[in-house]
Amino acid sequence: MHQIMILGSGPAGLTAALYSARAHLKPLVVDGHEAGGQLSLTTLVENFPGFPDGLMGPDLIVSMRKQAERFGASFRGGSATAVELGRRPFRITIDGTVEECQALIIATGSSAKLLGLESERKLMGHGVSTCATCDGFFFQDQEIIVVGGGDSALEEAIFLTKFAKRMTVMHRRDKLRASKIMQEKVFRNPKIDFTWDSTLEEILDVNQGKVTGVRIRNLKTSAVTERPVDGVFIAIGHTPNTQIFRGLLEMDEVGYIKTHDGTKTSVPGVFAAGDVQDHVYRQAITAAGSGCMAAIDAERFLEHAGH
Ligand code: NAP
Repeated sequence: MHQIMILGSGPAGLTAALYSARAHLKPLVVDGHEAGGQLSLTTLVENFPGFPDGLMGPDLIVSMRKQAERFGASFRGGSATAVELGRRPFRITIDGTVEECQALIIATGSSAKLLGLESERKLMGHGVSTCATCDGFFFQDQEIIVVGGGDSALEEAIFLTKFAKRMTVMHRRDKLRASKIMQEKVFRNPKIDFTWDSTLEEILDVNQGKVTGVRIRNLKTSAVTERPVDGVFIAIGHTPNTQIFRGLLEMDEVGYIKTHDGTKTSVPGVFAAGDVQDHVYRQAITAAGSGCMAAIDAERFLEHAGH
């Protein structure tokens, strides 16, 4: 029986672990299917306060984890596959084994969205990717298309210019959603060009088992064209990882967990922190901040509940 369990090991989960460990609550952190969360898939982070020269996302995660461990947080691999939140102790199934806890902090984050094309699914890992940091290296001197118009898409595009011969950002509108500073960087980069008002209709060629090109539809003219490319990176946003909590916790229409009075969810004793409950800010620093809040809220809950 644990006093506190934390699901997820990104900045929200690790900060919750640090704070609850320092409150002598010996938290158990369940890594989740992507240990370290999205920061572990990124490169240079320049906007985490305290690091004037920036630092690498995976390094930040390793440091946060060590810091939580130093105060007594423990970690286990695997993902929660089912939860029972009807009464305490809550029961959490992790890849077949059950753990019990008096308070639960959900910090399961969000995952990359896909376009939903059959060819995208079939060619994932064979030229289609959602993570430039993970797969960019495989595209040395090749032609790449990045789909999306937000900060993620531009960040991926900039990163991929290290490898690619030519980069195209394809966006469904004629205005980017990304921050101004990111747009300026990309517009300055001679290796990156744009295809506006367009969407991917098909990724070619499933029969060959690799990406050889794309079929693009211009949404204004409806014209369909084909273009040879070697890689397709999908960067169109994220979906919250909340499937196992459906029907158990209040969520918004997209599936983000609703919180109130800090990090409280609709079930007393269950708290949510980070991207799983935030589709607005979604930054490492805001996730870390809400992880801290969740640990404090959980500690107070346990105190009042007499644990
Ligand atoms: P986002 O801001 O939601 O942008 C998603 C982009 O994908 C939008 O341009 C959207 O088009 C497009 N899109 C969505 N669904 C699509 C579909 N089915 N087909 C084609 N295009 C589609 O997501 P994000 O870029 O992942 O960023 C999320 C948050 O993280 C933001 O707050 C961002 O600022 C932050 N972030 C920050 C950094 C950084 O500071 N270095 C890096 C990455 C992310 P529309 O514009 O038409 O909706």
